[in-house]
Amino acid sequence: MIRLPFGNSVYEVKPSKIICLGRNYAEHAKELGHEVPKEPVIFLKPPSALIGPNETIILPKKSKEVHHEVELAVIIGKKGKNIPKEKAMDYVLGYTVFMDITARDLQWEAKRKGLPWTLAKGFDTFAPIGPRIVPKEELDVSDLEIGLKVNGEVRQLSRTSKMIFTIDEIISYVSSIMTLEEGDIIATGTPEGVGALKDGDIVEAWIERIGILKENVSYSTTYR
Ligand code: MG
Repeated sequence: MIRLPFGNSVYEVKPSKIICLGRNYAEHAKELGHEVPKEPVIFLKPPSALIGPNETIILPKKSKEVHHEVELAVIIGKKGKNIPKEKAMDYVLGYTVFMDITARDLQWEAKRKGLPWTLAKGFDTFAPIGPRIVPKEELDVSDLEIGLKVNGEVRQLSRTSKMIFTIDEIISYVSSIMTLEEGDIIATGTPEGVGALKDGDIVEAWIERIGILKENVSYSTTYR
């Protein structure tokens, strides 16, 4: 069970689903060789992939290339369907830092074969979240520094103002397809600079005024 500080209380992270945006920063779409999308590209990550701060990202045996992606996560505060853009922020509880860990080699293979990406995105420990949830009333997330370091070296550095689709647009779009439940997580996409993680790495993802989400990286010992 993952519990994160939320204002002066504690929040239990228990989403019915994790919705992720692909290609929501133009420079990242470009580095993977994609066009900038005309409407949001979404996929799901299983809640079983979640880990809290200061845990271990496990590199699975099936992949030779596991990538880091730092993202701003939105925590949904109440149930909604077909939410208009103008009302979207009423459905936000708060914000945190998220890593969309990706088995890039398996994702390329799936894309090449025209298969879903679920395998590449869904391994256990591939959804680190934290270190705290900041209530939406306390934070304007429209232009914050977002970054990620591996072993102290900056790999990703951008600003949330470079997101192609804004949070209200994303909530409106996603809720036109699936009902958003209280506790659901929307990960809003990663900026450029994604790269490989290896055994023994220490990865630190941060967003200005939210905090640093720090994890260890290790080869699987259980499943190899
Ligand atoms: Mg991502």
